[in-house]
Amino acid sequence: MRLPFEITATDPGSRARRGSFLTAHGRIETPTFMTVGTRATVTGLDPADLREVGAQVLLGNTYHLMLRPGIELFRRVGIHRFMNWSGPVLTDSGGYQIFSMTGDRTMHERGARFRSYVDQRMHLLSPELSIEMQTAIGSDIMMVLDECIDSTSDEATTRAAMERTHRWALRSLAARTSESQALFAIVQGGVVPALREESAAFLTQQPFDGFAIGGLAVGDARAQREDVTALSAELLPRDRPRYLMGVGTPPDLVHAMGCGVDMFDCVLPTLLAWQGTAFTSTGRVKVTRAECGRSDAPLDAACACATCKQFSRSYLHHLFKCGEPLGSRLLSKHNLHHYLALMAEARAAIEAGGYAAWAKEKLAAIDRHEHAGGGRA
Ligand SMILES: [Zn+2]
Repeated sequence: MRLPFEITATDPGSRARRGSFLTAHGRIETPTFMTVGTRATVTGLDPADLREVGAQVLLGNTYHLMLRPGIELFRRVGIHRFMNWSGPVLTDSGGYQIFSMTGDRTMHERGARFRSYVDQRMHLLSPELSIEMQTAIGSDIMMVLDECIDSTSDEATTRAAMERTHRWALRSLAARTSESQALFAIVQGGVVPALREESAAFLTQQPFDGFAIGGLAVGDARAQREDVTALSAELLPRDRPRYLMGVGTPPDLVHAMGCGVDMFDCVLPTLLAWQGTAFTSTGRVKVTRAECGRSDAPLDAACACATCKQFSRSYLHHLFKCGEPLGSRLLSKHNLHHYLALMAEARAAIEAGGYAAWAKEKLAAIDRHEHAGGGRA
């Protein structure tokens, strides 16, 4: 196993667990939220900003990085040197991006054929090429290529995609060459409990370093997402990290940590920041609304981030109204700080044996205006 995973505390009132594992670029304390840096950048923020908000792990994307800047550059420098980030990096395989494409793409047993948005040429992304690309990128954790589908698909479609994901997982495992890079499998099966069980049973027989729960936040309702998360987490081995892909809102995270999920990523904190929405200790705040323009209070009085310590709601409102990029930058830093501080609080609550009570209190405070899903980066 490339990621010796150590569980240091478990919560008596839930399935939450506190752990850590060591990667080639540092230790990851779990539960952790991974900051989405799809194209080897977290939009508008540099590595010093990311350190400041408490980011531990960055998430890059194989599909986008393969199209631009391409494999040759990464063979030469690797992502850490390229973007000057010395901490751990996880790369998603590209499966979700292929699924999200509206244009020219077809799925085959060999891989996914699609047209590049960069040069309009046709490409074939196979499980083997995804691993080759992730090996060149030099991520600390690689993901297998999976076939993603809408979670509202019928059972036959869901089963076919799941079975192909299993075959591709075995091919990914066989294609791995690097000793220092971990590889995670992705449990699929939509919202059908029997398929989730079958998928977990198949994949956990194989020597993967961790297991992800995929196929959620793609059309499913919150209650469905919570049920599938709880079921899937329970089916995964205790001694390996569990990663819930692309989910979600702070309440989603609080719920999933209580099910024993260790790793998360989601575009929401940065995506919504660029649209003028902040996550706060009392729910979401839209800074473009008129009342923010009249408020000299910080965005969130309970937040310790640099944005909240230095600037008022009226200033942020002004920056957004003027289309000044500083507004989005300040909000991105706040939102990431909010997510990462939530994770730090959760880790402390698990260590103290009080996660269940903490989660209940947290949900009561933030569970308003929180119904949107997520989406894999
Ligand atoms: Zn703040």
